[in-house]
Formats: sequence, structure tokens, C-alpha cells
Amino acid sequence: MQTQPAAAPARPGRSGRPPRVQTNLQVTRTEWLSKHMVRVYASGDAFESFAERYAEKAATDPYIKIFFLDPSLDVELPVNVAELKETLPADKLPVTRTYTVRRVDRETREVVVDFVVHGEEGLAGPWAARAKPGDWMMFNGPGGAYRPDPEADWYLFAGDDSALPAVASAIEALSPDARGHAFLEVDSEADVQELGTPAGLQVHWLFRHGQTPGTATMLRDAISALEWPEGRVDAFVHGERGEVKSLRDVLFKDHGLSREQVSISGYWAYGRAEDAFQAEKRTPVGQIFPENEPA
Ligand SMILES: Cc1cc2nc3c(=O)[nH]c(=O)nc-3n(C[C@H](O)[C@H](O)[C@H](O)COP(=O)(O)OP(=O)(O)OC[C@H]3O[C@@H](n4cnc5c(N)ncnc54)[C@H](O)[C@@H]3O)c2cc1C
Repeated sequence: MQTQPAAAPARPGRSGRPPRVQTNLQVTRTEWLSKHMVRVYASGDAFESFAERYAEKAATDPYIKIFFLDPSLDVELPVNVAELKETLPADKLPVTRTYTVRRVDRETREVVVDFVVHGEEGLAGPWAARAKPGDWMMFNGPGGAYRPDPEADWYLFAGDDSALPAVASAIEALSPDARGHAFLEVDSEADVQELGTPAGLQVHWLFRHGQTPGTATMLRDAISALEWPEGRVDAFVHGERGEVKSLRDVLFKDHGLSREQVSISGYWAYGRAEDAFQAEKRTPVGQIFPENEPA
């Protein structure tokens, strides 16, 4: 493997935000976990410093911002993206895609990321489907701020395929006597994964059966119909933005949860590439809790 260029200097970020430290790794192997999800393993000289930042985070939803360069650029990889940006016109700037780090394996020195393969649209999904050993994965991070609250009486997880890696990691961090419910929306039985769930956590797989991702109401329907357990819940609710928004009333109005006990955000938005989705966070449509609209 090639020698890594010096990492860009760290810039302290807001809590949960990914630090602007660039990590360059190379794909070592890939593995299809299900019909629509491929796992990419990556390693390299920068593994150790990334693994330290990952351990310091101690989050179960650590995420990275993976860089994608304009394919017309003739640059040798890896490249210091912050420096490269200084030299490029606006229409050639690199873009980022956000992914959960599913695991950091200190024995094999691999970073593990699970990608939804959602067709030929986009950059990251198609890249992961075709990734091969030696391909560069350059990213900033990790960010992330959630870890299951050990004081909670029960846990609620809700998400679509994009949140499955973060939900799976959170479930693995639960104590063996934890109880609760996980609602996971995927296309079909072929997308179900084995999760190391404590006996008291019920996993409800919800199948779209060909319905376009991001247009279903099944998460809301299922959680509305849930016989709500007694006690204080710790909730983790992430996925397509519109579907996540549709759960606000159930969580905050019907069940009176406080914001502190719910980790909630959109991971992507129907009909938007991530660049547009991120830009919309500055407008009401892109916010889970628009500033002038109470939860
Ligand atoms: C904190 C965080 C963690 C995330 N973790 C993961 C993760 O571990 N694994 C993962 O797969 N995704 C994850 N996502 C979601 C991922 O960042 C988006 O799905 C991203 O848009 C995919 O980029 P792309 O280049 O494939 O598609 P884009 O170029 O962004 O979008 C192209 C088109 O595909 C649609 N699209 C995007 N994502 C999906 C999808 N999942 N299903 C169906 N259609 C889609 C868009 O609406 C758009 O129409 C995470 C997002 C966040 C914010």
C-alpha cells in the first residue's frame, strides 16, 4: 500500500459532528450481507489513528463523510481533499456521502461499512456494489453521539435499511437483560439480517415488497399500533426524512416523549441526492423540528 499523505490538521467540531481529519484507507474485501446491502472492509496505515478517534467517540452510531471526486479529475489517489478543493472550480468540488462505521476490527485492522445498494442512482451505493481490493476510501470523521442509555427501562429502534447498521450496532451494545422493540423497514425477506438481539428485544421486520423506498408508511403504522411498554423509553429513530418526520406525532404527542430521550434524524431524503438533502437542512423542509414549529 502507498504511504499516506499527512492528515489535514484537526479542527474541533460541535458535539457529534465529524472532525475534519482525513483518513485514507484501501478496500481489502467486500461481502454481500443481503440482497441490497454490501459490506466494505478497508484498511491501511491510517487505521490506527482512526481507530483511536473511533474508540474515543464511544458512540454506537459513529459516522464518516466519504469523499467522491469528480471522475473527470486526473489526480492520483489518495489526495488531501482539503488542499485539492482550494485548486478546483465550484462545479468540480468533491462531494461527500455519510455512512455509519459498523465496526472497527482491531485484530484485522479493518474499518467496516455497510452500504445500501439502491440501484444505479447516486455515487456511494453504486461505488460500494463494485468496490474491489485496492480502491481508495477517503473520509473525514467519525461523528456520532448516540449510545443506548443504560438507565432506560426499554428501547425503541426504528429505521429503514440505511439505519440498519447503526441500529445493529446499538443492539449489540445492549445489556443481555435489555427489552424493547426494533422496527426495521427493508424491501423483503432477502434483506433480513441476523442481529445479536437480547431475548427481551423483539425485532419486527417490515417489508416494502417492491414499494419505492422512502414512500412507505409502515414504520409509522407499526409503531402507532405498538402496545406501549411501561417505563422510560430510550428511542433511536433514523431513516428516510419523510418517514422519520411522520413519527414525530406518535412519539412526542401520543406518547409524550421528551427530545432528550429520542435520537431522531433523517439519513436521506426521497428524490434528493445527499448534497441537496444536506443543503435542505437549512430550510424548514429539511428539519425534523422546524424552528418555528413545536414538536
Ligand atoms: C448519520 C448517517 C449515517 C448513515 N449511515 C448509512 C449506512 O450505514 N449505510 C447506508 O447505506 N446509508 C447510510 N446513510 C444514508 C446515506 O448517506 C444516503 O443514503 C446517501 O444519500 C447515499 O448516497 P448515494 O450516493 O448512494 O445516493 P445519492 O446520490 O445521495 O442519491 C441518489 C438517489 O438515491 C436516493 N437514495 C439515497 N439513499 C437511498 C436509500 N438508502 N434507499 C433508496 N434510495 C436512496 C436519493 O433519494 C436520490 O434520489 C447514513 C446517513 C446519515 C446522515
